Amino acid sequence: MAQFKVAIVGAGPSGYFAAQALQNLATEECSFAIDMFERLPTPWGLVRSGVAPDHPKIKTVSKVFEKIANTQGFRLFANVELGKDLSLAELQERYDAVIIATGSPKGKKLGIPGEDLANSMSAADFVPWYNAHPDFAGITPDFSCDTAIVIGAGNVAMDVARMMAIAPHELDPTDTADHAIDALKKSSIRKVYISARRGAEFAAFTSPELRELPKLEHTNVRMSKEDIAQAIARVGDAIEKDTKSNLDAMTLIAENNDFPHERTMEFLFQHTPKAILGDEKVEAILFDTPTGEVKIECGLVVTAIGYFADGVEGVPVESGKVKNVDGKVAENLYVVGWAKRGPSGVIGTNKSDAAAVIELLVSNLSAPKNAADIKELLGDKKIVEQSHWEKINAAEVAAGEPDGKPRRKVVAIPEMLNIAHN
Ligand SMILES: Cc1cc2nc3c(=O)[nH]c(=O)nc-3n(C[C@H](O)[C@H](O)[C@H](O)COP(=O)(O)OP(=O)(O)OC[C@H]3O[C@@H](n4cnc5c(N)ncnc54)[C@H](O)[C@@H]3O)c2cc1C
Repeated sequence: MAQFKVAIVGAGPSGYFAAQALQNLATEECSFAIDMFERLPTPWGLVRSGVAPDHPKIKTVSKVFEKIANTQGFRLFANVELGKDLSLAELQERYDAVIIATGSPKGKKLGIPGEDLANSMSAADFVPWYNAHPDFAGITPDFSCDTAIVIGAGNVAMDVARMMAIAPHELDPTDTADHAIDALKKSSIRKVYISARRGAEFAAFTSPELRELPKLEHTNVRMSKEDIAQAIARVGDAIEKDTKSNLDAMTLIAENNDFPHERTMEFLFQHTPKAILGDEKVEAILFDTPTGEVKIECGLVVTAIGYFADGVEGVPVESGKVKNVDGKVAENLYVVGWAKRGPSGVIGTNKSDAAAVIELLVSNLSAPKNAADIKELLGDKKIVEQSHWEKINAAEVAAGEPDGKPRRKVVAIPEMLNIAHN
């Protein structure tokens, strides 16, 4: 029987779905020994550090990941970073195939004046801050202002706006980082705008997320009736199903005239940011609109206009994605997920996408290399293996239980390693 060794770099959804596709293709004649490398001591990628804490159901996909991880032939090497602890060449020497699944972690910039003022930040920093990602715990958004503006017309913008606009006590039963709950409880923000460059018909929000908004218990949600009516008129009869579903959901929001709450989330369409204004800190945004320039005062700006892939040593990146043809990067080197496609699609999109890449990978395999085990290269590095991660996981779940939280996340890496290895 032939056994091929495959390295997967990145323990996010696409990495796990790639492992699952390999497991599904194993036969009596051919099996796969899968080693998954992850730079953080904790796996699950954006399911842990991206998905909004008030959407816990979406995170239940982690049960699938844990099943994959507990299948024979799978090993987790967390706290091991490609480009720092191991080089791509070292992986390529020892594995029959290497799969890059490192995601798309950097936030796109608007490229307008004032973007670098204090209290203007990217969702790529703000989201992992509230989700307890160790690299972003030190970010200190200043919520002492009345108004925040989120720039972007997708679900990430909506998540960010909702996190600032809901009553902070609603976050108590979630796995939001303690430091974020504390800061949001002290927040003076009562108005959060979401600004979109184009009309409502082009917005990339998805309709289930829009349909949830009127159910918020402590937040008014406002959209202009005129904006939505004009968008409906512009698209006319040749409307696509998803656009129709979105505009229907938006009509429901726009028709509401009852605003009893202290906190408000308001959508601005056809507002193109021209400049962020302020002396040292954000004070306002100047927008171009169909009726001319509009200045809106605000003390915090979060941009959520897309992500791009980080350069990983030895892996070619072009236009924010790993350069590839149908997932193949080079001989025995493949890419899946957001690193391959860019930041699009839901978690499930990564499953079908990874399955197609794995089919190609397997069709290109010839004979196993039988190279030495990778562990000898890692020396005394504190690797977080699956059993260690399970200790961190159990400790977090236990710490959350008394307060009805799904988990209380550990933020500091030394503390994670301490739990893992003691
Ligand atoms: C804010 C936000 C909210 C979202 N909410 C939803 C939602 O509600 N529902 C939904 O279906 N989808 C949601 N998505 C989309 C979903 O998260 C993505 O489709 C999915 O996470 C992409 O998976 P991935 O594995 O390609 O990347 P990621 O999830 O980013 O995983 C990449 C992993 O690689 C690791 N890594 C990076 N570099 C290295 C390296 N050099 N060495 C080792 N490891 C490395 C990272 O630490 C990370 O764990 C959301 C995305 C964002 C940004």
